[in-house]
Amino acid sequence: MSVTAEALSTKLKSIIRDVPDFPKPGIIFKDITPLLADHAAFTELVQAFADAYRGAGVTKVLGIEARGFLLAAPIAMALGAGIVPVRKKGKLPYKTVAASYALEYGTDTLEMHQDAVKPGEKVLVVDDVLATGGTAAAVCELVEKIGGKVAGVAMLIELEFLNGRSKLAGRDIVSLIKY
Ligand code: AMP
Repeated sequence: MSVTAEALSTKLKSIIRDVPDFPKPGIIFKDITPLLADHAAFTELVQAFADAYRGAGVTKVLGIEARGFLLAAPIAMALGAGIVPVRKKGKLPYKTVAASYALEYGTDTLEMHQDAVKPGEKVLVVDDVLATGGTAAAVCELVEKIGGKVAGVAMLIELEFLNGRSKLAGRDIVSLIKY
């Protein structure tokens, strides 16, 4: 990690709030709302992701419901790309493709519009936390199911002890903060 990346990581870590036993006992929830509320820090993290993927030909940035939306939108703006919401089952109005996956806490189904990514388009998948990797892996599969190419997986926080990378073998993963 470069000195700048390390300094950014330290700064972001100091702003993120740990909430023990949410949403269930034993989980330490990484609450990014203090970071979202900090204009300077939030701007820096968006720039860091944009710098990592500038020149990668990304035309769509996928945000995973719900905190992923908040990160995906400004990253997409910075990259000059469109934004695609990946939502919980039943929320999107048009024809969808779906994938079910296991979470660190429970299971869920995610959907995206089947025409949200055109065949051959380069996509960046964005979320706040990479935990077991099930969510991000399912979203990458959705993108590929409709012919898109995953240019990268951008995660604000990576919980390395859960080894989410093992479910994303061969993918380009950028995480700014590691625990
Ligand atoms: P996973 O599929 O296990 O990688 O879980 C990733 C998803 O669950 C992301 O959408 C995260 O927002 C959420 N998540 C998992 N663990 C945590 C945690 N400790 N703190 C906050 N969010 C989490």
